Amino acid sequence: MLLSWLLASCALLWSSASIAQSIENVRVWPSAEKTRVVFDLSAEPTYTYFTIFDNQPYRIVIDFQNTENRVDLSGVEIASDVVRVIRPSGSPRAGTSRVVLEISGAVAPEVFPLGPSGNSGHRLVVDIAGATNTSQQLPAEQTSSPAATSNEPRVPRTLDTVPIRPLVIAIDAGHGGRDPGSIGPAGTYEKIVTLAVARKLAARINADPGMRAVLTRTGDQSLSLAQRTSVVRRERADFFVSLHADAFTTPQPRGASVWVLSKRRSDTELGRALENKERLSEELIDVEHILQDGEEDPYLNRAFLDMFRDNSMADGHEAATIILDQLGRVTNLHRNRPEGASFGVLSALRTPSVLVELGFISNPQKERLLINNNHQDRLANALYAGIREFFIRNPVAGTSLAESRIQMHVVARGESLSVIAARYGVRVDTIKQHNGLRSNTIRVGQQLEIPLGR
Ligand SMILES: [Zn+2]
Repeated sequence: MLLSWLLASCALLWSSASIAQSIENVRVWPSAEKTRVVFDLSAEPTYTYFTIFDNQPYRIVIDFQNTENRVDLSGVEIASDVVRVIRPSGSPRAGTSRVVLEISGAVAPEVFPLGPSGNSGHRLVVDIAGATNTSQQLPAEQTSSPAATSNEPRVPRTLDTVPIRPLVIAIDAGHGGRDPGSIGPAGTYEKIVTLAVARKLAARINADPGMRAVLTRTGDQSLSLAQRTSVVRRERADFFVSLHADAFTTPQPRGASVWVLSKRRSDTELGRALENKERLSEELIDVEHILQDGEEDPYLNRAFLDMFRDNSMADGHEAATIILDQLGRVTNLHRNRPEGASFGVLSALRTPSVLVELGFISNPQKERLLINNNHQDRLANALYAGIREFFIRNPVAGTSLAESRIQMHVVARGESLSVIAARYGVRVDTIKQHNGLRSNTIRVGQQLEIPLGR
C-alpha cells in the first residue's frame, strides 16, 4: 500500500538528517567541451538543485542540506568561460548551505555524486557544457590531493579511477510477512504478487550485464520500514521501484498505474503519518481520487511544478513515463501518464523512484491475471524494458550501459534496417545481433537499440 512507501520515506529523511556534512573544497576544471565543478565533501552529499534560466545571470542553485560550508568561495579560481561566479547565497532553511553558480548560457547541468576513490572522498560533481578557450593558462588546482600538480591534465584524474560499474536497481516487493497487503476477492495476497514480479524483474535485470538488481526482500519476510529503504542507500542504487497491487473500494476494472512523488504538503503528511497511520492511508487514497478528476487538479499541477525543481523527481517522472509506455504494451493502463501525489518526503531520496501499481487486486479479473505466471513475466519484462530505456536515454556516467553508447531508435515509416544502419554508421548485423532480430523485418514504432560503441 502507499502508506508503507510514505513511511519508508520518512525513515530516509530522518537518517539523512542525522548526518552532518561539510563542504571542504571546491575545484573547477574548464575544458574545450565543458566546465566541471567539484565540491569535496566530508560525507555523502544530501542535496537538491534547480536552475534559473528566465533571467540573467543564468544560475544553478545547489542546496546542500545539513551541511556547513568551510570554503571561502570568493577565493576559488575559476578561469572558465562557462562558469562566471561561484558564490554563497541565503539559505532557504537552517542547516542548508546554498551555493550559486552563475553561468554564461542557459544550459542544463549534469549533477551527480561520486563516492570515495583514490585520494578523493565524497564529491558532488557539476558538469556544464560549453567551451573554454584552451589556450588559456590552466587554473591552479585547488585540490587536496598531494599528488596533484598544475601540470596535470584538465580532466580530473580522480574520475579516471572510478571503475565502470553496472547500474544498481533496487526493487521493493511491497508488503510481506505479517503484512499481506491487500487481499483479492479470491483470497490472493498482494505480498505474493509483488514478490513474484519482483523476483522475475530481478532475474531479467541480472541477466543484463549492464545492470544489477537488489531486492528489499527475497522471501515472505516482515520488514521494518528502515530495513526496506536502507537497501537504497547501502547499495547506492541508481533507481528505486516499489511494486504494489492494491485494492480499492470499488471492483471496477482498472489498469496498471505508475506513481511519482511531489513535495506538496510533505511536512504535514509526515506529521500525520506519525500521528495516525490508518488515517493517513485513507487520505492518500483520497488524493488519488482527486487526481483522477481532471487536468485542472491543483495537486497535480503543483506536483509537476515541484518535480521540475528537483532533479531526482524529474528523473522519476521521466522514468515513470517510459515505464508506463512499456507497461501499456502488455496490460491496460489506469491512465497513460504518471500520476503524482504528495509523498513529498521522498525528496530526501536522491534516487529516481517510482511506485508501480501492477493492477488492482480487488478486481476479480485482474486478480486472476496477477497470479498468472505468463502475465507476471510480461509485467516484469515491461518493467525491465522501461528501466533500461530510461537509463539509455539518461546515461549515468561511469556505468557500463553509459559506456556502451546506445541510442534508442523508434522505427519510422519507410525505414529499413539498412537505412537505419547507414544513418548511425553501424552495420546491419550489429543492430540485428544487439536487438536479437532473426530477420530484417522491422515494423513502424518498433524500438531498436543502436550500439554506437566506444
Ligand atoms: Zn500495496
